[in-house]
Amino acid sequence: MNTSVNPCVDFYQYACGNWIAKNPLPADRARWGRFNELQDHNEKVALDILQGAAAAKTRSALDQKIGDLYTSCMDTAGINKKGIEPIKAELDRINAIENREGIVAEMARLHRMGIGVVFGFGSRPDPKDSNRMIAVLSPGGLSLPDRDYYLKTDPKSVEIRQRYVQHVQKMFQLAGDTTEAASQKAKMVLDLETILAKDALDRVSMRDPNKIYHMLARKDLADLLPMLDWDAFFQGIGAPPFESLNVVYPDGLKQFAADLTGLPLETGKAYFSYQLLRSSAAALAAPFENEYFDFWQRYLAGVKEPRPRNMRCVTVVDRALGDLLGQKYVQAAFSADAKAQITTLVDGLEKTMGEDIAALPWMTDETKAAAQIKLKAITNNVGYPKKWRDYSKVNVKPDDFAGNLERATEVMYSQRIEKIGQPTDKNEWTMTTPTVNANYSAQSNSINFPAGILQVPFFDAKRDLAVNYGGVGAVIGHEMTHGFDDQGRKFDADGNLRDWWSAKDGSEFEKRATCIADEYSSFTSVDDMKLNGRLTLGENTADNGGVRIAYMALENATKDKKLPVLDGFTPEQRLFLGFAQVWCENMSPQELRQRAMTDPHSPGRFRVNGTLQNMPEFQKAFSCKPDQPMVSQNACRVW
Ligand SMILES: [Zn+2]
Repeated sequence: MNTSVNPCVDFYQYACGNWIAKNPLPADRARWGRFNELQDHNEKVALDILQGAAAAKTRSALDQKIGDLYTSCMDTAGINKKGIEPIKAELDRINAIENREGIVAEMARLHRMGIGVVFGFGSRPDPKDSNRMIAVLSPGGLSLPDRDYYLKTDPKSVEIRQRYVQHVQKMFQLAGDTTEAASQKAKMVLDLETILAKDALDRVSMRDPNKIYHMLARKDLADLLPMLDWDAFFQGIGAPPFESLNVVYPDGLKQFAADLTGLPLETGKAYFSYQLLRSSAAALAAPFENEYFDFWQRYLAGVKEPRPRNMRCVTVVDRALGDLLGQKYVQAAFSADAKAQITTLVDGLEKTMGEDIAALPWMTDETKAAAQIKLKAITNNVGYPKKWRDYSKVNVKPDDFAGNLERATEVMYSQRIEKIGQPTDKNEWTMTTPTVNANYSAQSNSINFPAGILQVPFFDAKRDLAVNYGGVGAVIGHEMTHGFDDQGRKFDADGNLRDWWSAKDGSEFEKRATCIADEYSSFTSVDDMKLNGRLTLGENTADNGGVRIAYMALENATKDKKLPVLDGFTPEQRLFLGFAQVWCENMSPQELRQRAMTDPHSPGRFRVNGTLQNMPEFQKAFSCKPDQPMVSQNACRVW
């Protein structure tokens, strides 16, 4: 804490100032916060597990897979000796393409390798029938973090594109092209990606479930993008038979067809080659990896040096075989007692949210009743999934890093594609167990808390209850509130996109949400970059609701036995400190810029101050005066 700052002037500095000063950005990070401290800790637990599994003389099939993947990742001598060999055959195949059939076949091959060229294709629950998995075709295929990077004309954006083209050229040169050929191909990559960017939907629209739902017959695709042999593509990726699919943005696909007219085949080939190089760089010899780091990390994110190899290899195993590593992580770091305590907390918060809904002044009784039904229907998943993912088909060898990744990706891709037409498995997790995150899934109407986040600073089974309510309590409240933010509120208790709101309640909600959107749009993240209040609306709504519910739940839980004052702080003050101190962080200016355009979450400073300046409970706890900065003159409240 920096107690020289007045908590009613800048609570974030008051709660985090000393941490921020004492924890400058490490050279290998774009962002360093208490989230990352925990992530670091979890990775060290995982590293122990992997080193043990790699070295063991006799071992289980599980240990063989995670241990050998780790070993193959650490084998830099072997990786360097292979140079570009792991993707040479694929690059040659791309270079030899002579016609449209060849393009489609390659598109399918790359998709199976997890490289979503041109568009994204996969399986998702049907928004209006959440029990059924359907095929989804969505805008995609970009390299830079957002379509704005290709379209904006301010000097910084122009500079980023120039640097990007230089980087793409270097990657082609490393792959064996002459300077001239590499330079031409790099321009082609930017050309094609600029078209894809132009024909993509912006991030704010992508958050609106009604704007991204267009069920079409499979044969309609031929009208949208006639030059692509769709049957050949779907066969190539191994999709099961299906008759209809959700085309997220049909207008964009149609426009893309028009924009392709007259574009040479070579442009597509250059684009495929770079996409392959980019996604394989981490598994290739050092020059590729270094060039990749130089542009994507050093230049674009402001990171000064790569993370240590062993830590990067932990991340690799977590991504490729996450549920195997996760099983071992849970044994090492998550007790039955912690699970029981968290489950009690979740139940308390759910009850409190029910009371909060019942007391809302702006909602009619009918909509309240529907909201209560939705709240009661939320499934709570704590710690780890009910069923672990199966990796028996993934063959892992200790001396074939690139091959291991390729095989793991193909198996995962097939598992995803084969779900088309199947019933939805609502128990499936999208995060691995050591992950420091949590989520709400609108279509399974579930909140999910991996063991990785149920740790210090969020939670400690032996610590002051008030701090736990401010930490993990606010996270649980945050995820519950997602079920009722501008996006979540459009789905019903069964996870279906259906309007269960009366028109009046809907417009009352929108009015309150707009207050939040305007508030956060007024915050400057870095230089002249403002936050986008519409992009961050769901997260900010969830932060605001989450702390309030955590606060109310703590009051409920300690009604009969008030907690004592500790270190001079009341329980309420400790709750707000516990909340704020989860968000202490330092970020590079490059990272702040990138996140302002792409991240639906606000930076820590605004997650804390933007939320608490709306809360009379906070202002009362710290005796703030009406004219102080932490007392908003136009306080927003949705939940
Ligand atoms: Zn969230």
